This record gives sequence, structure tokens and C-alpha cells, in this order.
Amino acid sequence: MLELRPNCELCDKDLPPRAPDARICTYECTFCAACVEEVLRGVCPNCGGDFQPRPIRPERAWRDGTGLVNDPAGTRRRHTSYSREEIEAFSERLIGTPPAER
Ligand SMILES: [Zn+2]
Ligand SMILES: [Zn+2]
Repeated sequence: MLELRPNCELCDKDLPPRAPDARICTYECTFCAACVEEVLRGVCPNCGGDFQPRPIRPERAWRDGTGLVNDPAGTRRRHTSYSREEIEAFSERLIGTPPAER
């Protein structure tokens, strides 16, 4: 099950389950859209993959055992261990290579 992380790893903005600007990579690394566009330039600093909008998990259980009422969002806030300089250098290296060719 996808872990709905509570914040942007870079700027620490709150990203609750319904946030329309949450972005994730395949490892569930989570950032806000502004950081992805302006700082990361679409490159995940942790794995080098790309980002997609995070899907919204419904509040209620439309099917048994589903929804935020059964599977609530995560609460552990994460913060990337890379410096701004390291992140920018990493993005610079990978930005020219399409995700499917990385
Ligand atoms: Zn951010
Ligand atoms: Zn990642």
C-alpha cells in the first residue's frame, strides 16, 4: 500500500492526503509540486526517478477495508539528507536523460 507521507522532504510543506500538489516517485519519496518544478526539476534526489501527482485516497470505505478511515495517512515526517547544492548537481546530471532511459 502506498504510504501517504505528511510533508515535502525538501521544504517541509504539509501535504495532507488531499493535497493536490503532492508529488511522488516510485519509492514514495514525496515532495511538493513547487519543489519538484523549481528545485528538483523533475528528478528525485533520492533515486533519480521522475515524479507523478500522488493519487487521492478516499476518506470513506467505499469498499470494505479501504479508505483513510481504515488506512490513514502516515505521520512520520521526512527530510532529505542532501544539501541544496548536491540536489541541484544531481538534477543537472540527469535532467537531459528521459526517465525511461535512466
Ligand atoms: Zn516543497
Ligand atoms: Zn525517489
